[in-house]
Amino acid sequence: PGTPDVEALQHADAARLLPRPKAESDKYRRGVVGVVAGSGRYPGAAVLAVSGALRSGAGAVRYVGPGAEAVIARYPETLVSEGPPGHAGRVQAWAVGPGLGDEPAARQAVDEVVASEVPLLVDADGLRLMDLEAVRARTAPTLLTPHAGEAAALLGVAREQVEAGRLTAVRDLAERTGATVLLKGSTTLIAEPTAPGAAPAPVRVNATGTGWLATAGSGDVLTGLAGGLLAAGLSARDAASAAAYLHGLAGRLAPDPPSAMDVSAALATAWQDVLRGD
Ligand code: AMP
Ligand code: MG
Repeated sequence: PGTPDVEALQHADAARLLPRPKAESDKYRRGVVGVVAGSGRYPGAAVLAVSGALRSGAGAVRYVGPGAEAVIARYPETLVSEGPPGHAGRVQAWAVGPGLGDEPAARQAVDEVVASEVPLLVDADGLRLMDLEAVRARTAPTLLTPHAGEAAALLGVAREQVEAGRLTAVRDLAERTGATVLLKGSTTLIAEPTAPGAAPAPVRVNATGTGWLATAGSGDVLTGLAGGLLAAGLSARDAASAAAYLHGLAGRLAPDPPSAMDVSAALATAWQDVLRGD
């Protein structure tokens, strides 16, 4: 039998993928996610990405960047450091990009995490700042999370072209970058690069979302959430899938119309919804 082009993500898939703490778990085994986000111009992106990471089930969230003060004021449980990511101590996955702007330090931080052998998620401004060749050279799990405009810029085509052929666009981008790609929009599509000699994996489709998620900062929450799932040891494909499912569900569970922080706050209920019956 041929491989289907797409597979719809189901509740049972999310339930299977989400990590549970084991009796012998400690915070390091549950995973430390490093968040690189925010800038003088976009201070809120740091707080939003950290908020998603804190609801990912990872054991700790480490924030690296210029927004440490705002992050700590809102989330005192965050570990923070101000130097480059390489000096930040133990991190099992990086989530990089929201609100970085164009500061030279941000570009250096992106280069550094792309060059590392740590699992990595790149979103938003990080997608613009990253070096494509360096991304292609990575061997550790790598997840890119563009919306249509960001995907179009990476592919060198118009946004309309991505929107008219989302399945083709997400597959092309995965092949070109060698990374797992999560394409955001009214549905979320997740594609894998094809291994040499293998059949293409079906594109995963998540449809738990709602149009209310089209609100500033909501993508930043997804970045922290998916990065935390990577740190917890999920593959890029599974972290992307579980995060998209939970994030969409949280968008439905939050009061209408939700702010991005409301979506983040509803993640705990979304988890309970998925884990119910355990
Ligand atoms: P960003 O574009 O980075 O702000 O991320 C927006 C988030 O909202 C992504 O998770 C999208 O998949 C989601 N989203 C945007 N528009 C819609 C929509 N019409 N229906 C469902 N989800 C959406
Ligand atoms: Mg975004």
